[in-house]
Amino acid sequence: MEKADQIIHAKWIITCEDRNRVLENHALVIKDGKILAILPSKNTAELYQAASEQHFSTHTIIPGLINSHTHIAMNLFRGLADDLELMDWLNNHIWPAEGKWVSHDLVYDGSLLAMAEMLRGGITCFNDMYFFLDATAEAAERAGMRAHIGLTVIDVPTAWAKTPDEYFAKGLEFYQRYKNHPRITPTMAPHSTYTVSIENLIKVKELADQHQLKINIHLQEAPSEVEQSIKLYQKRPLQRIQEIGMVTDKLIAVHMTQINADDFALLEQSKASIVHCPESNMKLVSGSCPVEQLLQRGINVALGTDGAASNNDLDMFGEMRSAAFLGKMTANDPKAVSAETVLKMATINGAKALGIDHLTGSLVPGKAADFIALDLEQIETQPLYHPVSQVVYAASRHQVTDVWVAGQQLLKERQLVNVDEGEIIAKAKEWRDKIQQKEAVIS
Ligand SMILES: [Zn+2]
Repeated sequence: MEKADQIIHAKWIITCEDRNRVLENHALVIKDGKILAILPSKNTAELYQAASEQHFSTHTIIPGLINSHTHIAMNLFRGLADDLELMDWLNNHIWPAEGKWVSHDLVYDGSLLAMAEMLRGGITCFNDMYFFLDATAEAAERAGMRAHIGLTVIDVPTAWAKTPDEYFAKGLEFYQRYKNHPRITPTMAPHSTYTVSIENLIKVKELADQHQLKINIHLQEAPSEVEQSIKLYQKRPLQRIQEIGMVTDKLIAVHMTQINADDFALLEQSKASIVHCPESNMKLVSGSCPVEQLLQRGINVALGTDGAASNNDLDMFGEMRSAAFLGKMTANDPKAVSAETVLKMATINGAKALGIDHLTGSLVPGKAADFIALDLEQIETQPLYHPVSQVVYAASRHQVTDVWVAGQQLLKERQLVNVDEGEIIAKAKEWRDKIQQKEAVIS
């Protein structure tokens, strides 16, 4: 009889390996934050003795969802400016609001609000790009989530850093502080090719090589970005970063709604990952990423919500459904971007993009115990023929009842374990009052 920490029994377990196995009446055995075994529930008693045992008889367990691109502190700007074009939205609304309000406190409170939302929606890991990285990391420590935090670089002064050199210096300080953290991983995050000079992009690439870091960048998000690049440099943004050696398996290219034949070939050769953000792309009418064509070429496509100011939620269930529907429309094929495919985009493909697929993203022995329980015995998901179809096309995030990261239970019967919901809502209201008052004066 082997000793374990927890045994979690479930009606179904969807593993999200290369093939989505759906196991019925199975259990996850957890020890030291990792999955020790997955086996039929009836066999656990003879093999394992655990300190705690839980039964989820109407639930499916799936890997924790991975939000592969977001700006979580922007949750405090949710609903501030809607129904605008990307450049109008950025130049006239979001950047001025950020210029006035972004601070360590705003980022901490906004990050905690976003983490509470993400955990309640079954997201266990996120990949962020923002400012005041320490504030996001402190919130992640408190909430218990797995966090990839970008060392943001942008040639525009903000409250966090005034010059590119200051961005690099602050980013490197953050890297030194968190490089060995078990759940917090620094990455490089140049904002885009239109906001970061080629000299600074070269510096980003050198630092990424030196410290073996992934590079996140908004890339070919909308037609205007590509047109402007061709006008100024006679090259597409992807080509510009390819010329400095940035297009490799370390690249996480976010959005990529504009892809021509040369781009496809380059992405395929390089083994770069794409993060698809369908709801942000639809809301800002940026374009639609040709997901099916990318997947057919073997290119890894993950899924992200983007920030709450352009979405307006951090809901990976909504994002999965949007990715499937938009993917079908874009390919003009109802068989494209299936439920099976989008569930993997939201789990194992995200882990591959972030370089942590050895650690999380699917439910197999040896990986971290990052998983969620989703109650399917609700009006909205009955009757049930195919669990994967139900998870993607019918379930909502409100059916997520329990969430674990590295074996730690962070949501229990829909209650957050480490953070206080009332306190988070009160802080959000305080910020709304401050930001709204100032906006009213301006208008
Ligand atoms: Zn973004």
